[in-house]
Amino acid sequence: MVVIGAGLGGLLSAAQFLRRGQRVAIVERLAHPGGRFTAKTFHGAQVSTGAVHMLPFGTNGELAAMLRALGVPHHIHDSEVFASFHVRGRQVICRSVLQLAGVFGPRQFAEFVRLGAAMLLRQPRPDERTQTYREWLDRRISRNASPELYAYFERVCHFALSVGLDDVRYPEIVETTKNMFRYGAPGIVDGGCAALTGELERRVVEGGADLRLQHDVVAIEQTSGAVSGVRVRARQTGDEVLLRAPIVISNVGPWATRRLVAVPAGVASRANVAALPQPIPLPRGEQTTDAGDAEPSAPRAVASGLKVHLLSDESIIPHRGIMYCLDTERIAGVVQPSNSDRRLAPPGKHLLITHQLMRGDDVNVEREAARADLRRLFGNDFGTKIQILTMSQYRGEWPVNRAMQGEDVAPATGITGLYLVGDAVKPSGYLMVEGVAQSVNALLDTLDGPETHTPSRPPKSRAFRWLVAPPPPHPGS
Ligand SMILES: Cc1cc2nc3c(=O)[nH]c(=O)nc-3n(C[C@H](O)[C@H](O)[C@H](O)COP(=O)(O)OP(=O)(O)OC[C@H]3O[C@@H](n4cnc5c(N)ncnc54)[C@H](O)[C@@H]3O)c2cc1C
Repeated sequence: MVVIGAGLGGLLSAAQFLRRGQRVAIVERLAHPGGRFTAKTFHGAQVSTGAVHMLPFGTNGELAAMLRALGVPHHIHDSEVFASFHVRGRQVICRSVLQLAGVFGPRQFAEFVRLGAAMLLRQPRPDERTQTYREWLDRRISRNASPELYAYFERVCHFALSVGLDDVRYPEIVETTKNMFRYGAPGIVDGGCAALTGELERRVVEGGADLRLQHDVVAIEQTSGAVSGVRVRARQTGDEVLLRAPIVISNVGPWATRRLVAVPAGVASRANVAALPQPIPLPRGEQTTDAGDAEPSAPRAVASGLKVHLLSDESIIPHRGIMYCLDTERIAGVVQPSNSDRRLAPPGKHLLITHQLMRGDDVNVEREAARADLRRLFGNDFGTKIQILTMSQYRGEWPVNRAMQGEDVAPATGITGLYLVGDAVKPSGYLMVEGVAQSVNALLDTLDGPETHTPSRPPKSRAFRWLVAPPPPHPGS
């Protein structure tokens, strides 16, 4: 079989199929594996290609479970707090949900409890099923009357999902929130995301995978509606080869996969391509892109964001979790991954990473908004004790998420033997790399039968542990 792309989804798929005794070739266009879940050393810091070194559900999550099952060495530093909040010019640390009363004050906290109960203790009603998150919130609270509470819901959505309140449906928020509470605290990977995908790379290469870096898949070949292989071009020489395989797993997202499918003459083949899942609908302001002669125009639905790496002389966040920012214009949250592993920052420094939603196409406006927020958060320390290391935007072919939360597609395509994995194949309620791991489980379910691999969710009772502190790791973690 051939895996297109050595991102986390491609590497996990390769490891799973090697374990089944299959021959696996992985084709990756870049000089390194890991995709958006790896890092480069820059000025002594681990600057990530995407992720903020964080696993959304930490040791308890589905990615950690899959790594354990595959025997991939790793260590995750779970957050020891619920989160902290930058609000009214200072940071408030909440070990548990009840401590949010100190962030919101009594009236807004009572509203928080009422909304939380509606979200978590009952199913969405028929009228709520079609509402966007903003519509649902606006019918219950007002930004003017409850500014901190409104900002809380908004910033968690921006940081965790990289989508605006208008871009995600309320039922998906319910599923995601339930999972966040059931699984437990997020965690930072020891050594950062490069260490994790580095171990996976070692595992698949030792397991016999043929890993071809700096090779582009330029076409997916099919015969009579069944995949027959991929055409691969070496970046350095331009040489092309055909890798024949009855199974091809694409880690490059549904839209890029559609573009790669070669359409020989014949209506039947065109129909197969048309049956490939389309990542739709179109979020505000996204452009329609033409896929070429064989395809109708179709929009791209991705979650985009802007991330800033900072080095600080002093520790800013005194825990391993997320500091949500309720008094900024754009920055939704900040993490300090060097709290979990000192090697992520140069000696004597602390690594901070901020994340915000891209609200428009003008990158300079977004960057200036980030700088303004950094001045708001850190005052005169910004530019002196706290310096920007990198500032990068993620959209188009390198987004935060290839499908908006809740707009994902299934692993099976209209072409026999061609499957999709990755963060456009997240099942409902699973965000980011937890969704990538679940996409691989979903692929295995597609091949072996429903729910043979996708584990059941942790019991609801675990969610209540958050009232006092983060839930402990699962037994066996
Ligand atoms: C700013 C930012 C912050 C994030 N923070 C977090 C976080 O803290 N926690 C978290 O869980 N997730 C986070 N994410 C999301 C997470 O990084 C991604 O969901 C995950 O890495 C996606 O993995 P993937 O395997 O689906 O795709 P990718 O990592 O994109 O892998 C696809 C691979 O395919 C290769 N490829 C593409 N086309 C071809 C071709 N034609 N031929 C050969 N190879 C090809 C690419 O080079 C790439 O290596 C963040 C993302 C961003 C951008």
